[in-house]
Amino acid sequence: MAKHTFGEIPLSSPDITEHEERLVLQALRSPRLSIGPVVEQFEKALAARAGCTQGVAVNSGTSGLHIALKALNIGPGDEVITTPFSFVASANCILMVGATPKFVDIDPRTLNMDPAKLEAAIGPRTKAILAVETFGNPAHMDAYAAIAARHEIPIIEDCCEALGASVRGRVAGSFGRIGVFGFYPNKQITTGEGGMVVTNDERLADMCRSLRNQGRPMGWTTQTAAEPSHGGTPTGSWLRHERLGYNYRMSELNAALGLAQTHRLDEIIAKRQNVANAYMQRLGTHRDLIVPTIDEDVNMSWFVFVVRLAPSYTSQERDRIIKGLRAHDIGASDYFPCIHLQPHFRELGFGPGMFPICESVSNRTIALPFFNNLGEREIDLVCGTLELMLSRENLQRG
Ligand SMILES: *Cc1c(COP(=O)(O)O)cnc(C)c1O
Repeated sequence: MAKHTFGEIPLSSPDITEHEERLVLQALRSPRLSIGPVVEQFEKALAARAGCTQGVAVNSGTSGLHIALKALNIGPGDEVITTPFSFVASANCILMVGATPKFVDIDPRTLNMDPAKLEAAIGPRTKAILAVETFGNPAHMDAYAAIAARHEIPIIEDCCEALGASVRGRVAGSFGRIGVFGFYPNKQITTGEGGMVVTNDERLADMCRSLRNQGRPMGWTTQTAAEPSHGGTPTGSWLRHERLGYNYRMSELNAALGLAQTHRLDEIIAKRQNVANAYMQRLGTHRDLIVPTIDEDVNMSWFVFVVRLAPSYTSQERDRIIKGLRAHDIGASDYFPCIHLQPHFRELGFGPGMFPICESVSNRTIALPFFNNLGEREIDLVCGTLELMLSRENLQRG
């Protein structure tokens, strides 16, 4: 059962089983609360689900993106191509390493970068493509991979929203030189806070392990190093730092939850697919709504369920509808505001009119309540209320 206030339907709600609670408690009672065996097990299990040999667990998706760019040596003077229609972290990580984001507009159907515009944007300073599977839709990922190969630049795959998604059998996490997942509570699986870098490149993974662990030497393991719980020694490498590193480690407690949720991933994806189907069926024919279009060769892993108002609607009307839903205790949000219009990007010279498709889409999106255990009656109530809000707007227009 979803745990929330009676009568309220939240935008998202975690789904943690009693078995998972017991496994977290077991990790808590173990002698190793960090840098232990459960993190390694989680890394192996998650990497396998992403079609990769290497997993590096970190404390958030954002930290994972940061060290992925660092490990690829991206820095000042380099340009990274990315989408303006995403969660802000996918572009912030480019600023975090001192590189320059180069946005390209989206395909209005899939909401991911338009492949033709992406290829046209590649220039002499382009060091990488940071591709996002927005809302869990991996559309165009194979096209991006072909473009990247042609131009001999790497893809950094921000697959934070797409765990378990695939295009013609190729899974999210396996399209780039390096990929990053996130496990915030609204994602397909959660660790409370957390993330995972995945890759097939062992050296790159090793660099990420060093960067997440205070720049300790590459190849550092609990077996080869003297660590504080063993007293530490002057000859051990616990206090050897070969580069500027960070503390982006994941604890054993978070990993215990993540490992158990990974084992349940297929069930979770199926549950979310059912919720999406119910929404599609109920809202797909409404004349004022555009529901997500999913390409035939794509297997979604639904992250959120986002409808779009017809082009005649303004962002003010959209905001009023969101307010109306919330007044009825129904969670709703305007995923995503354009990244290039956030204040710290405007300071860099970005502004309205630069990515018109992204702006037009972004003005009219409404994210509806979406989580594993959202029931049919709740979906009915959400849709009924949304329909009511739409007819109210229509009445006001006359
Ligand atoms: C969730 C998410 C992230 C990472 O978020 P964290 O809160 O740092 O784990 C990054 N990019 C996208 C597109 C996301 O949706």
